Amino acid sequence: MEGDKPTTLMCTVVAVDHTNFCYRVCSVCERTLPDNINNTTSSICKYCNFNNAFNRGSSSSKRLFRVLMSIASETKVFVVICFDRVARVLFGCSADEFFDFAKLHPLSAVTAGKILEGEMLRVTLSKPKNGNAQHLRVVSVVPLRSGFRPAIETLRELYGARVGT
Ligand SMILES: [Zn+2]
Repeated sequence: MEGDKPTTLMCTVVAVDHTNFCYRVCSVCERTLPDNINNTTSSICKYCNFNNAFNRGSSSSKRLFRVLMSIASETKVFVVICFDRVARVLFGCSADEFFDFAKLHPLSAVTAGKILEGEMLRVTLSKPKNGNAQHLRVVSVVPLRSGFRPAIETLRELYGARVGT
């Protein structure tokens, strides 16, 4: 992991942090919204509402994945961060869909972590642009097991549920 060039390597998923797997953004400008766990409907984007007085209060939010994951390469174990585009490959749905599914099936996030544990992945890692960020960032991921299925598919089967499509 020397230098600033992205590195591609084979790894195995050791663990997925299920406690904080997504964050909320404004659905218009995608700025991060403050987390307000107790009141998920009223947090509106100050930026959009400031610029659009006619639609005051009409901006809505959506969730994006931000998943911390421990992976093992041939030589070491380390923690990486997966943002939305990469996490969708592993989860097989949007963060909103996953969040809604997890509301009905509270153990979904834990179970998704278990499902993904042990998967062989080819990942491309890059150093965070923000010097303060502490984790390498996964910029692309390719599951290597031929029978790989995204976590949501297995979850739907486990819970016998059909949510969304
Ligand atoms: Zn906004």
